[in-house]
Amino acid sequence: MAYAYDDQNIFARILRGEIPNSTVMETDHTLAFNDIAPQAPVHVLVIPKGAYVTLDHFAAQASEAEIVDFHRVVARICADLEVAPGMGGAGYRVISNAGGDGVQEVPHYHLHILGGRPLGRMLA
Ligand code: 5GP
Repeated sequence: MAYAYDDQNIFARILRGEIPNSTVMETDHTLAFNDIAPQAPVHVLVIPKGAYVTLDHFAAQASEAEIVDFHRVVARICADLEVAPGMGGAGYRVISNAGGDGVQEVPHYHLHILGGRPLGRMLA
């Protein structure tokens, strides 16, 4: 089975400039912006600019340059927003929802970076 990408999803529209966003960081391959309904003082969404639906899709089919760039953006945001424990921050959580059981609302791969408050224990 192939991954089916819906280019009318809201993050595709943000990437095309059809919907505004509060950009935190942008590179050739990656865009990061604040979540419209933040669940913590830091709630940043990091998305690849390529058309990938889920983490497994991205990991399987993106180029090494895209994958490295994406994760370097995550690291720079965690450092810049002072949540990275290795940089003196108090910590953060990364979440990626995928598919129906994962309750993924927007079918364009994204990581949520949450931080800025104690996040509690959460595995499900
Ligand atoms: P998911 O359940 O797909 O992992 O979460 C999608 C996230 O996208 C939600 O946290 C939601 O608040 C956020 N979101 C949905 N629409 C928009 C939008 O138009 N702009 C921004 N910045 N975030 C959005």
